Amino acid sequence: MSNDPSEQQQRFRHNGRIIVVSGPSGVGKGTLLKKVLQTAELPLELSVSATTRAPRPDEKNGVEYFFLPADEFHWRRENGEFLECFEIFRGGHWYGTLRNTVESRCAAGKWIVLEIDVQGGLSVQRQFPDAVMIFIHPKNVDILKERLAKRGTESQEAAEQRLQQAAQELKLAERYTYHIVNDDLNVAARELMDLLKSIE
Ligand code: 5GP
Repeated sequence: MSNDPSEQQQRFRHNGRIIVVSGPSGVGKGTLLKKVLQTAELPLELSVSATTRAPRPDEKNGVEYFFLPADEFHWRRENGEFLECFEIFRGGHWYGTLRNTVESRCAAGKWIVLEIDVQGGLSVQRQFPDAVMIFIHPKNVDILKERLAKRGTESQEAAEQRLQQAAQELKLAERYTYHIVNDDLNVAARELMDLLKSIE
């Protein structure tokens, strides 16, 4: 398959858009996006990624993620089924955006929202320079620590890895076009909504 961005974009010729939303773990991207997706009068759709990590107690296959066994994930990876995929949290799990979902929903005129990490986001930007790149910032790093501790879904070690990853991601944030600070959820949701409406 060709890696030429212009050729790849031709395959995606459509009225849809690709919107990348990144930000460190614990910044509240999920809650923020849920609120905006529920209220914005825009054709937004959240892309469901695939992952090799185990579902958390409240997560369902096909809703938060497609939870794939590692061998299936890698088989699909070798088969070119991912628009982007990366191993996140060193030595940890794989996450990836399935090409097929994005392609078909964009072709149907949807604005497909990819909630993915910075490596993935920058990879999408290289392939689709007109993707809308949005970074969600915490008010400060202490907030991330508190949120990860409160969430209680991570072991101490995994939470530490997420914080290290967060520091790396914040360094790369400048490569994103739009920046929103998620201090007050309602304010951040309004800002995100206004931003999306402005690019309509
Ligand atoms: P979590 O395990 O908390 O659901 O997600 C961990 C990280 O993986 C988050 O930073 C999230 O943005 C990222 N992530 C989720 N799906 C994808 C994906 O398809 N590709 C990439 N590159 N990152 C993803």
